[in-house]
Amino acid sequence: MKVIRDPSEMAQTCAQWRRRGYRIGFVPTMGALHDGHRSLIQRARRENDRVVVSIFVNPLQFGPNEDYARYPRPFYQDRRVCESTWVDVLFRPSPEEMYPEGFRTGVNVEGLSEKLDGEFRPGHFKGVATVVLKLFQQVGPDKGYFGEKDFQQLVILQRMAEDLDLPVEVVACPTARERDGLALSSRNAYLSAPERAQAPKLQQALQAGAQAAVRSRAKPHDVVRRARRLLQSIPGASIDYVRLVDEATLDDAERLRGRLRLLAAIRLGRTRLIDNIPVICQD
Ligand code: AMP
Repeated sequence: MKVIRDPSEMAQTCAQWRRRGYRIGFVPTMGALHDGHRSLIQRARRENDRVVVSIFVNPLQFGPNEDYARYPRPFYQDRRVCESTWVDVLFRPSPEEMYPEGFRTGVNVEGLSEKLDGEFRPGHFKGVATVVLKLFQQVGPDKGYFGEKDFQQLVILQRMAEDLDLPVEVVACPTARERDGLALSSRNAYLSAPERAQAPKLQQALQAGAQAAVRSRAKPHDVVRRARRLLQSIPGASIDYVRLVDEATLDDAERLRGRLRLLAAIRLGRTRLIDNIPVICQD
């Protein structure tokens, strides 16, 4: 496995691969790799001739009071994960190379970036879309792999790729979970033991909400209310949001019809957790 830091060397390597007709799969990450990332890499490995994983803790997507400085950066461990999953190139640019002096441009996917998580993390999705577009330009992948764990991010990136005619398929991958249902996340490491014990209740509350949708004459409001009630019973948790939305537009569901997603974000102590679940409607 090659480790590349320089974006232009990354671009040259991928250009050579493309000339040889290789299909390139790309998995952008912020590192602290876990089995969720691993499942994305394995899928990319199965579906492509060459696999690139990037590790870049993107300063643009962190708010001033967020955890940019303390975000975990266990590089040697991450390198081993990439080697053991047969990654071809680990791309690890520096913030200075990604955002040199004078950098001004941002990508805003209007209407999708401001709601849900965007309300609580202003500018976050603009930072995400901007860095992913830059990484796509540098790597030029056929397919980019993203987790449903970050559902709003996935929808925004699919929209961006379509709107800007990017020649890349944004592939949605299922959420990898601990045995007790907690979605794997690099931030789970921040949880204290008592917080960790409460954390699976986030997924349980979403499941209970989704189940409420199959009751006869259930309304969107019943789904949200059921999930919210359970979230409110988690000791020490505060709720940022619980919403039932249309999967494509992220608008609040008005009826239990079509493809819907129940999403929630809570804070447990200093840690913010997000999760989501599809809601199956009986049309
Ligand atoms: P991150 O390093 O947190 O920026 O995540 C990099 C990619 O891995 C994103 O596409 C995430 O959605 C995805 N990811 C993170 N956690 C999981 C998980 N538990 N299951 C599946 N994908 C995940």
